Amino acid sequence: MVYLRYMVHAEVIAQLLEELKPYGATLVAVTKLRPMEDLQALYQMGLRDFGENRVQEMRPKQEALPKDIRWHLIGHLQTNKVKYIAPFVELIHSVDSLRLLQEINKQAAKHQRTIPCLLQMHIAQEETKFGMSEQELFELLENPQLVELENIRIVGMMGMASNTTDMDQVRREFAGLRKLFEAIKEALPDIHILSMGMSNDYRIALEEGSNMVRIGSKLFG
Ligand SMILES: *Cc1c(COP(=O)(O)O)cnc(C)c1O
Repeated sequence: MVYLRYMVHAEVIAQLLEELKPYGATLVAVTKLRPMEDLQALYQMGLRDFGENRVQEMRPKQEALPKDIRWHLIGHLQTNKVKYIAPFVELIHSVDSLRLLQEINKQAAKHQRTIPCLLQMHIAQEETKFGMSEQELFELLENPQLVELENIRIVGMMGMASNTTDMDQVRREFAGLRKLFEAIKEALPDIHILSMGMSNDYRIALEEGSNMVRIGSKLFG
């Protein structure tokens, strides 16, 4: 019997990396729910940016795998879980409140580090998706408590488009996020990452200005 130890699509991944090159975009390989063997195979292909949406799943994987992997937290983050990832997390994509930023700041300080964060915006039509509204964004940016947080750095924005076959709508949502990104860039000098695009919509996201895509299902057989 032929036993497949892992199921990553090497050819698809190589092609994807070529596609991202002209945009200078980073591939975050979304490895949630994938077994360790898959992550090892991705690592062997040279990938170093891995995205997980749950702290409980990221932690054991981080402990077991090589230490030069850059771990991206892409899912909703509860304040009581921040402490578990604070020592090592590379980038938190899903920041949607001052309260969460304050907790990240506190935990980062304990480890004498600065944790880069993206502000997650609600751009989809579905109500279930997390993220801030434009009004919440501006309230956050104007809050005087924000500048007191010395152990976090807001480096960009993240958004998930509607899960729809209407690609014009997906494009409008990405374009809207890009506009917001450009607008706050003027106020915040560290802003340079725009995380948008998944397996089904990353091409549109790149065309609309994404420089970081979070791709999972497409990588695997
Ligand atoms: C699962 C997930 C992805 C990847 O989705 P695919 O459709 O598998 O590429 C990207 N971003 C977030 C926040 C996710 O939870």
